[in-house]
Amino acid sequence: MSPSEPVPLVIVEGFLGAGTLFWGNFEAHSNYACQSNGEKDRKTIFASVGPVSSLHDRACELFYSLVGGTVDYGEKHAEENGHGRFGRTHQVALYPEWSADHPLHFLGHSLGGQTIIKLQWLLSTGFFGQNYHPDMILSVNTVSTPFRGTQLVYALGEETQRAPDVRPFSAGDILAKGVHIAAYLSPLLPSFLDLYVDSRRLSFRDASLTSFLGQLWKSDWAESCDAAPYDVTFDAASEREAAEEGAINTYTYYRSYCATLSHTEGSPSTSRAYSWAQKILAWPLSFTSKTIATFPFSSLRPIPAVFETLASAHLASIMRSEKTELQDGIIDVDRSGTYLSTALRANDGIVPLFSQWHPFECKFTRCRHFSHTDNVLGWDETRYGRPPDPGIWHVHHLEDAHHLSIAPVWLGTAEQKAFWKDLGHWLRAIDTVRRGPRQEISTADSR
Ligand SMILES: [Zn+2]
Ligand SMILES: [Zn+2]
Repeated sequence: MSPSEPVPLVIVEGFLGAGTLFWGNFEAHSNYACQSNGEKDRKTIFASVGPVSSLHDRACELFYSLVGGTVDYGEKHAEENGHGRFGRTHQVALYPEWSADHPLHFLGHSLGGQTIIKLQWLLSTGFFGQNYHPDMILSVNTVSTPFRGTQLVYALGEETQRAPDVRPFSAGDILAKGVHIAAYLSPLLPSFLDLYVDSRRLSFRDASLTSFLGQLWKSDWAESCDAAPYDVTFDAASEREAAEEGAINTYTYYRSYCATLSHTEGSPSTSRAYSWAQKILAWPLSFTSKTIATFPFSSLRPIPAVFETLASAHLASIMRSEKTELQDGIIDVDRSGTYLSTALRANDGIVPLFSQWHPFECKFTRCRHFSHTDNVLGWDETRYGRPPDPGIWHVHHLEDAHHLSIAPVWLGTAEQKAFWKDLGHWLRAIDTVRRGPRQEISTADSR
């Protein structure tokens, strides 16, 4: 690839993603990302990863789909989590030249965003070997990603005091049974139902009927720490943050798009005209959004470390004025009306706002939050009047939007078109900076 060509964009889907079945002709709509600039089309790469796999497993699957070869989950990880070390073999690499000199942009929806962060962390720890470097990820772009967990997973069945245990006959338990049935029958099912459970040997070719029935009774997968549902608990987020996972990489550009439904913030919804397809998508999310907004945080025991700073945040908000600064990201749960409380309750139907920002509390990372009124979809060219800064999260808000407003289902809405156009300008701005001489990045706090 010559330096003048746009850096390709890799799309990573979220939990239960069903590949291009949902995203449709993703190249066509992601072309909004480059055609609006009049530049040569940016290559988009759709990387398929396990729809129910844990973040670790998904990151490994993503890595090997790009570089090719047999997915290696790591000897230690496989041993600790009771599944095979190796997964499927990718005969064709999606981007064999991938390196720090030939980096890639990434866009992840929901759990796809955390998958990219996990991949970057594994690259930085040398998990894939010394030939690979976190600079290979030029930009991380996330939409509605639950970086710090979501209370919805508890409402759906995860035990509030004994995660990863799942309450019997809860929605989560029923989902787990569905996953086992699909995995058992997988050799007979169409490819969009591919669960990437090769290393777990759950299909009828590998597992006996007795073991299948045993898994239906109590799932080794769903009630383990190596599964997607556990990865979105507050406990798992606390463990990741304790391990410094999700720390920014100096030369990577970070951007998060955070959606909230207006009614979860106590504001009336906008009176837009929705198509029937939009209404069908939004309908279940209006129920789950209320569950998230009214979740009893006091039921969580022990208190996840993700919330440990809440007590000091409460004091801080009393000391200061009621008007909590957005950049502080400090949430006061007890005093409704403050920004912190809103950020815990405001949500997109799946993820609370504070969790969509970025990993860690704002004070433990580098971030720049664009205000609510600075809606990214009210696109403004002046936003790109200055070169983008690497090594800092750019947090943008998607007003009165739900978890599926932007991705993965392409409906051609004005919001979706505006989103891709804005993303295109952002990626182009990064490409332009990259072509110039590399600047030494100041590590001074620029929040
Ligand atoms: Zn695993
Ligand atoms: Zn922040």
